[in-house]
This record gives sequence, structure tokens and C-alpha cells, in this order.
Amino acid sequence: MKVYAPDYCADFRCIAGSCRHSCCVGWEIDVDPETMKRYQAMDGALGEKLKRCIASEPVPHFILSAGERCPFLTEQNLCEIILRAGEDALCQICADHPRFRNYWSDRIEIGLGMACEEAARLILTSPHPLRLVPVSVEADEQPEVPSEEESALLRFRDQLLSSVSETGPLARLREYLIYRHLADALYDGRIAERVRLVDRAFARITAAWNGKTVSDLIEQARLFSNEVEYDDEKLEQLLTEA
Ligand code: SF4
Repeated sequence: MKVYAPDYCADFRCIAGSCRHSCCVGWEIDVDPETMKRYQAMDGALGEKLKRCIASEPVPHFILSAGERCPFLTEQNLCEIILRAGEDALCQICADHPRFRNYWSDRIEIGLGMACEEAARLILTSPHPLRLVPVSVEADEQPEVPSEEESALLRFRDQLLSSVSETGPLARLREYLIYRHLADALYDGRIAERVRLVDRAFARITAAWNGKTVSDLIEQARLFSNEVEYDDEKLEQLLTEA
């Protein structure tokens, strides 16, 4: 199955120690079963620390340190697991973040979530409208013929994207919200509610913006994403509010 992503995704690099709002602070991170097996088999100082710093209930997760920091986040805000064992040693959530995935019948779409300040910067400063490019093929996922409803949803999303009337970073913001949230109608069929969600999210972010600098728009978008897009309850409230 082909995998597509906005072209700016290729430029994404975690800025690690330079990040002012590290995603390794304040979030409880679950460790997937496959990574857990690898961690349990690791020896040496890193293996010992991994055993000490992962709680098994209700699901394996890193035990946060003071200030809700990941126990593997160094004082320089670098990841100790990467430093000692390389990026391949990361668990699935850490390896994926800040990427999200949407599964269509005949394609997988990847995006960057704006809770990450570097992702938000790339998205909102992209010089052209959202452009999806093929990035890889997932051999173990076989494409299927999309249903008529699914094809209609994809066409509708394309129409919404091409009818964006804002310009510059505001256009990039609306495109991101459409790309991020419309595809979920694949799973719940709530197309009209998701269109309203895009409008409400756009209104909320721009109301909090100082109206002047792109860096403030990036910060407001990051805050919104951090507070709402990763919180199922708040997202549902925004979907259904009158
Ligand atoms: S928020 Fe983004 S840039 Fe910052 S540490 Fe996380 S992935 Fe890296």
C-alpha cells in the first residue's frame, strides 16, 4: 500500500535540546509490547534503568520523574535511550511522534501534529498549499477498492482544501485542520460535524493569536493541538458543541 505525506514532512527533524516545549515532559508514554520485550532483554546500565523506570500496570509506561519529565530526558533535554542505543531503540509512540496516520482503503496518509513546535513551524511556514507526495510503500498492507462513500469523502476533502480562502500561514492552518480531522469521518461518518470542528478550531486558534507575528500563530496552534487534539474528551466537546 502506498504511503503519502505532505511534502514538508521530509524536512522534519526533532530539534531536541533546542525545543522549548519538549514532548517528553508532561505526557505519560506507553511502551508497546514488542519494544517491551526488547527492553526486558537489554542488559548493562541502560537495561537496568529501563527495568527500573517502566511500570507494568495498567499497561507498560515510563514512570515520570519530577516535573513530569520522562526519566530518560537528560538535563540537556536529549533522549538518553537514543544517546545510548540509537533511534531504533525507541518505543513505537516515541518513534512516531509527532506523526499521525490515517488509513484509507487504498492508501495510508501520514501527517505531522502541531503539538510539536517544530512541526507547527514547518506546517505554518510552508510556502505553498498542502501537497501530498508518495513517501514509501508498506508491503504488508494490501490496498482495497474504496467504497463509494470513501471516494466521496476524499473528493469532498479535496474540494474543501481547494476552497480555502485565507492566504499564507492562515491558509496553511486551515489546510492542516482539514487534513488532520476530515479523514476521521472514515471511522465515524460525522462529516458535517468535522467540518464544523475545523471551523471552531480555526476560530479558537486565531482568536488567541496576537494577529501580528507568525511565531505567535505557531505558538497558539501548538497550544491548541497540545490541549485539544490529543485529548479525546476535549475533541469530542469541540465536535458536538452548539
Ligand atoms: S516537541 Fe517536537 S521538536 Fe520538541 S522534543 Fe518533541 S518531537 Fe522534538
